[in-house]
Amino acid sequence: MKDKFKREIDYLRLSVTDNCNLRCIYCMDEKENNFLKASEKLSDEEILRVVKSCAEVGIKKIRITGGEPLVRPNVTELIDSINNIEGIEEIYITTNGILLGDKVEALAKSGVKGVNISLDSLKEDRFKSLTRRGDLSKVLEAIDKCIEFGIKVKLNTVMVNDINHDEIIDFIKLTINKPIDVRFIELMPIGVGKVYKGVSNQEIRDLIKDNFNNIIEIGKEKSSGPAKYIKVDDALGKVGFISAMSNCFCEECNRVRITPEGFLKQCLHFDYGISLRDLIRKGISDQDLKIKIEETIYNKPEKHLFNQNKEHEEIRFMNQIGG
Ligand code: SAM
Ligand code: SF4
Repeated sequence: MKDKFKREIDYLRLSVTDNCNLRCIYCMDEKENNFLKASEKLSDEEILRVVKSCAEVGIKKIRITGGEPLVRPNVTELIDSINNIEGIEEIYITTNGILLGDKVEALAKSGVKGVNISLDSLKEDRFKSLTRRGDLSKVLEAIDKCIEFGIKVKLNTVMVNDINHDEIIDFIKLTINKPIDVRFIELMPIGVGKVYKGVSNQEIRDLIKDNFNNIIEIGKEKSSGPAKYIKVDDALGKVGFISAMSNCFCEECNRVRITPEGFLKQCLHFDYGISLRDLIRKGISDQDLKIKIEETIYNKPEKHLFNQNKEHEEIRFMNQIGG
């Protein structure tokens, strides 16, 4: 369906939990995390009902996210059921990769086309301190297993000044021999992310120019949202840039989000939206639920105002939204 600015909205980022097995320094506090109780989150049945209604208004592509989506009990069965909903054409996951290895086969069988794995360091010790607990070897194993099972892997990497910015070239080199894309995502001033200084994608591009001779500009790919891609040195994979901060891509925004407690969010930056959970628990009919979803999507804000507007600014942390 189209929103009031004539953007085609066909992509839903569905967060199935706010809980996580890591505590990345720019995403979550170490201790102060008031995770939702199970009863506060959408149940599997409620998620399926909501996705069915979203599909009826024109959502075709779903990304399962979190928190860490793979910590939700029975998540592979849930993903399988979502993928069977009429109208859902593509299903993807964003994960930190720690619990992914054992689930790759089931996910491949459920039709998951790709996983975005968030990875900010290739150094064991640094990975542990950045995530405050993660085991890098588990993530690297999961990446190889996805490739083995034909699931497309994209690494999402957030570069933070004075923390991991010295690994930019190492990440780019990963694309040379493996069919994986590495995408640099600019740090956003959300939650604890406000405390850190990100590295702009322009700085990363400049560094690439200084280090590689053979750079091919690919630009945007239809299925890859706002990322702009390049390739270096005949690599098997691509290098992408998602520059939400330095280059607003709101004009082409095609997405809405649903938080674990069932809040349909119109835009990452603002707290606008509607609680589908409350509507469902008050007994709304399927027809009226569809109308409410349609209205909320239609009224998506024109653009984010991360650098200017504090009014109605989202106060949730990234793990409570899903990125
Ligand atoms: N746990 C999963 C993971 O890490 O992939 C999914 C949820 S996580 C919130 C989704 C993405 O948000 C991750 O790639 C993470 O790096 C990114 N993220 C978290 N906080 C961010 C921030 N302040 N700015 C930019 N990206 C952020
Ligand atoms: Fe967890 Fe993902 Fe946030 Fe890291 S970025 S703390 S893995 S939700």
